[in-house]
Amino acid sequence: MNQIEELAKLLGVDASFITDPDITLSYSRDQAPFAQSAPPRAVLLAKNAEQISTTLRFANQHKIPVVTRGAGSGLAGGANSSADSIVISLEKMNQIIDIDTENLIARVEAGVINLDLDTKVKEFGLAYLPDPASRDWSTLGGNAATNAGGMCCVKYGVTSSHVRAAQVVLASGEIIEIGKATKKSVTTYDLLHLFIGSEGTLGIITELTLNLVVRPQPPATMIATFASITDAASAATQLLKFKPSMLEIVDQTTLKAVEAWHPLGFEIAGSVLLMQLDENPHLCEEALSVCRRFNLIDGVYSEDPADSADLIRVRKMAYPALERMGATLLDDVALPINKIAEFVERVEKLSASSGLTIGIFGHAGDGNMHPTIVHDHGDQAAATLAQKVFGEIVAIAQTLGGTASGEHGIGSIKSTMVQSEISETVMNLQREIKRVFDPQLILNPGKKFPL
Ligand SMILES: Cc1cc2nc3c(=O)[nH]c(=O)nc-3n(C[C@H](O)[C@H](O)[C@H](O)COP(=O)(O)OP(=O)(O)OC[C@H]3O[C@@H](n4cnc5c(N)ncnc54)[C@H](O)[C@@H]3O)c2cc1C
Repeated sequence: MNQIEELAKLLGVDASFITDPDITLSYSRDQAPFAQSAPPRAVLLAKNAEQISTTLRFANQHKIPVVTRGAGSGLAGGANSSADSIVISLEKMNQIIDIDTENLIARVEAGVINLDLDTKVKEFGLAYLPDPASRDWSTLGGNAATNAGGMCCVKYGVTSSHVRAAQVVLASGEIIEIGKATKKSVTTYDLLHLFIGSEGTLGIITELTLNLVVRPQPPATMIATFASITDAASAATQLLKFKPSMLEIVDQTTLKAVEAWHPLGFEIAGSVLLMQLDENPHLCEEALSVCRRFNLIDGVYSEDPADSADLIRVRKMAYPALERMGATLLDDVALPINKIAEFVERVEKLSASSGLTIGIFGHAGDGNMHPTIVHDHGDQAAATLAQKVFGEIVAIAQTLGGTASGEHGIGSIKSTMVQSEISETVMNLQREIKRVFDPQLILNPGKKFPL
């Protein structure tokens, strides 16, 4: 009996354990275009924490790499498997266990889809706020493991601000509880937040206790066009005082891509800022007068939800419009907000010197930019160049005091880019922490940072 047959026997007939290569192939990668991957030896569609525990205990004993998978919507190669690994998918662990309307918390299995929770709690006038653009298919476990962000995070914070507690299966197979369902807790080291953003390298999150809030009012939306992205980025720094629940920026290259697809009237704009206010909608006029100090071309706002949806269309179309132009490589860096303009100028120079189209859009309010490199489908030389430019964009962000990833994670595609922004001591501390939780180094090896 080989190892995989032995594990299948241990798990029993009740487990969904897949070894058919045609099926394991579809569990071998996420949405990152150039990350390495190979079909795993087997895939467990886990039904409960006990099955995960059995699998990890066995893998730990036999030093078999284990890759955890939520929905595979990741953009960093984090859920990509290797040929010697076992993938544990959480997709079947999709039960909302409890909604507590008095303590404003929800307890969920880690495979619950983000939007399913928000839709459910809407029935009670509540909301689960973190809103990655993938929220209709990414899992809450995946969101926690990557510390996902989204548009409303400028006001409400990223996933880590919304998680109170978790159940985790350690590499040893032991099942532990970290954090507390209480709103406040300082009793232990903050092990919970060590797991948030750990990208499957420290343990497998099986359950989460999450913050709910009273559903915010429908926001007012303002759109402002500027002569240049420098003007728009400078205006963005002055708009934070209005406590926006969204503050997004789109550059001229991306606007041109949108116009070529679906004309919305942005032909002469150098850049666009979009802002939403869900607390003080009446402040839109004052916000617009702030924009006038920065070469505003035009600006409008509305409190009507239908108009709002119409006004933010340009931001929703940004990435799909660039995708229509060719193969894309979507980068993700975070910067001090007052460095956005300089960052964009330097990326534009890189675009000119490399000959590659790079559209830039992102969450201006928290300095999280998504430069997107476009090249012709099937052009291998351009694809290789695009990968090089992808790394150069990260380096530009780092020299401006920024960081390699704001929300998509490091995964495998950026694991060698971390070293330049942290000291050797910090890198070694990370390695030591990894060994405390995963002494055999079986959990998602090669992801997050080089071992
Ligand atoms: C169109 C599109 C838009 C996107 N927009 C955003 C956005 O606005 N903001 C944003 O932050 N991201 C965005 N993403 C990226 C992606 O959706 C997020 O990273 C998301 O959090 C991944 O969730 P997932 O369930 O798909 O996880 P996966 O992709 O399956 O896994 C991601 C990482 O988490 C680990 N992991 C997954 N589940 C667990 C678990 N239960 N326990 C431990 N580790 C686990 C995996 O090993 C992997 O390292 C977008 C992606 C796409 C395709």
